[in-house]
Amino acid sequence: MAENDWLQGRHALITGGGTGIGAAAATHLHAAGAKISLLGRRLEPLERTAALVDGKAIACDVTDRDAIARAFDEARAANGPISFLIVNAGIGDSAPFGRTSREAWDRIIATNLSAAFDCAQLGLPDLLAQEDSRMVFIASVAGLKGAAYAAPYAASKHGLIGLMRSLAVEFATSNMTVNAICPAFVDTPMVDDSAARISKVSKRSEDEARQSLAAMNRHGKLIHPDGVATMILSICLPQSRDVNGAALTIDGGTTA
Ligand code: NDP
Repeated sequence: MAENDWLQGRHALITGGGTGIGAAAATHLHAAGAKISLLGRRLEPLERTAALVDGKAIACDVTDRDAIARAFDEARAANGPISFLIVNAGIGDSAPFGRTSREAWDRIIATNLSAAFDCAQLGLPDLLAQEDSRMVFIASVAGLKGAAYAAPYAASKHGLIGLMRSLAVEFATSNMTVNAICPAFVDTPMVDDSAARISKVSKRSEDEARQSLAAMNRHGKLIHPDGVATMILSICLPQSRDVNGAALTIDGGTTA
């Protein structure tokens, strides 16, 4: 089947869909014909992206399971059962481990890992009922190797990859695949925030701080969000039916 026919009219739900990687994924999936639902806490960026993709913007804090359930119902009412669940919402922080608060740990694990559990579980009945459906987690290279000054983030992303692999195995004979994408530093608002934080503590300019983050990618460049979005779209194509349980890197050789 032609790839454009395949996504045509099928429902892609993206958490954290208003900005960065989520917004880029929305653009690519919409261009391939999918109907788009976007979840996030702030309505303004969601509505801005939704306007570009004729999508449904739904304010939802994914750390609240009941709110996810309500948001998924609203998304289904607008766009039908979910065929492509893109679990992308995430937050980061950085601090030496000794000064990392328990509050920061709880907040990051709740957003990056426990919310992924809730989204996966609440989206599962739809995905299992659809032909050739996809669950895609946006993890990180920090899910594959340790990250200094980011223990809660790296732990959450390692957990996310464990969740992904377990679901891929448990549902291997179903019509759904479960995969993760693991980018290195991507040029999104998350990196803007990191650069601002580094600039504050190091007295370097934000531009220098961004360059230092880019230098941590082995090829010395920030990853373009469109590259990550292209990988997400590619996983959703019928030709990717046999890609299951994969942690796909897009990192300029960082983990090579
Ligand atoms: P952004 O900050 O642009 O995107 C994160 C999105 O998540 C925002 O739209 C934010 O919207 C949403 N979000 C955060 N917390 C919640 C919450 N509690 N409930 C609902 N939505 C929430 O950065 P990216 O696009 O870079 O991040 C997307 C994913 O990619 C994250 O999981 C991140 O860990 C991962 N990633 C990013 C990398 C990078 O270098 N940028 C590298 C590797 C992985 P709002 O604030 O309105 O809720």
